[in-house]
Amino acid sequence: MTVCLLIKLAVILVLIMSRQLHARRIEGVDKNIWVEFTQLAADYQVVNLGQGFPDFSPPSYIQEAFCKAVNGGCSMHQYTRAFGHPPLVTILAKFFSKVVGHDIDAFEDILVTVGAYQALFCTFQALVNEGDEVIIIEPFFDCYQPMVKMAGGKAVYVPLRPVSRGKALTSADWVLSSEELASKFNSRTKAIVINTPNNPLGKVYKREELQLIADLCIKHDVVCISDEVYEWLTYDGAKHVKIASLPGMWERTVTIGSGGKTFSATGWKVGWAIGAGHILKHLKTVHQNSVYHCATAAQEAVAVGFQREYEHFGTPESYFLQLPERLQHKREKLAACLESVGLQPVLPEGGYFMIADISSVKVDLNDPSTQGEPYDYRFVKWLIKEKGLATIPVSAFYSPEHSKDFENYIRFCFVKEDSTLSSAEAILRNWSNGK
Ligand code: PMP
Ligand code: GLN
Repeated sequence: MTVCLLIKLAVILVLIMSRQLHARRIEGVDKNIWVEFTQLAADYQVVNLGQGFPDFSPPSYIQEAFCKAVNGGCSMHQYTRAFGHPPLVTILAKFFSKVVGHDIDAFEDILVTVGAYQALFCTFQALVNEGDEVIIIEPFFDCYQPMVKMAGGKAVYVPLRPVSRGKALTSADWVLSSEELASKFNSRTKAIVINTPNNPLGKVYKREELQLIADLCIKHDVVCISDEVYEWLTYDGAKHVKIASLPGMWERTVTIGSGGKTFSATGWKVGWAIGAGHILKHLKTVHQNSVYHCATAAQEAVAVGFQREYEHFGTPESYFLQLPERLQHKREKLAACLESVGLQPVLPEGGYFMIADISSVKVDLNDPSTQGEPYDYRFVKWLIKEKGLATIPVSAFYSPEHSKDFENYIRFCFVKEDSTLSSAEAILRNWSNGK
């Protein structure tokens, strides 16, 4: 009897000891480029063209709106409606109904989230089941892959490939193969994620490209998750088209936006998901059982920002026109500098990032602490430590299957003061002159 009990206890002990602490869903997603490279940039106090945030202030009217909200009495410091502060969802509905060409219901079709990140997280958690496939177009904003995995889904990748037309490349030269894309859809496909304008490439999908994706979504009954956080930032006449505005797509698209990107206030972390109520209600289920709601005063300020944009839309007063105008010149400045030092930039049609080919520059990467890492990771770390300039390795925006082919690109962020861009320019020129 005692022996039996002892054996039982030993078995229980072995089981307890061998039980893994962490949940399987987080296996393999513990590394994060933003955590790693943002820390490195801070440690070395570099000129920072890495992480995507403006080093200038948001427009004054929205800063004033935030101060007014904070000083506006008790209610601004308390909980608001779980799925979005009423003034914010009301103006988002009014504003985007005009843009999408569909009557958006403020209280059914919108969820306000902690940045676009949480909108993406709620979408994957709400829609993806164990074993579902989610198509991701490469290069992609890195969090899509771990979010699909944590929801139990399987990411299926399809790359944008550069087609050389014998001249300097722009992001428009990176295209999907229609056959390859079609081959990825099957009965297990639950969703496709698109990002236009794209991070890191800057590609702005043309209507025909979106139509191809829309046709496949409709044919295979697939949801489209459209990350449009850079929607107001397009250059050289490129036009941002919302896939939700194409026939038959409103019913199957979740469009994701970011107040941080829209108003140059990334630290506010106000984002949203917009889509048909029958989809959005499932995102709300995830939200109400996790975050519940986002900071009231920040939502109030973003509401004031959108109200102003609504009144000034299409006029020179609109920040949605002013910001891309300001960035167009920064884009040119950075591209000219990169070309002059022998780094081949891919000119973005949108967003605020530019990737550049580093294969023509030869550097001696002899830092033993980075041995075994992808070439672009080692290159970026070298640039931070030896030259004082931070950028981001582009292979981080690829699946493990394809990242090897893109280790010769790095990403520069140009939503920066001219003085910051000039400091980066000086570093690159000195380096190129052997100083
Ligand atoms: N999507 C893309 C493409 C991004 O670049 C980012 C980074 N800002 C996000 C989503 C997340 O946005 P937010 O800061 O609003 O959470
Ligand atoms: N979206 C930003 C970028 O691409 C930053 C994301 C982050 O820091 N997590 O640089």
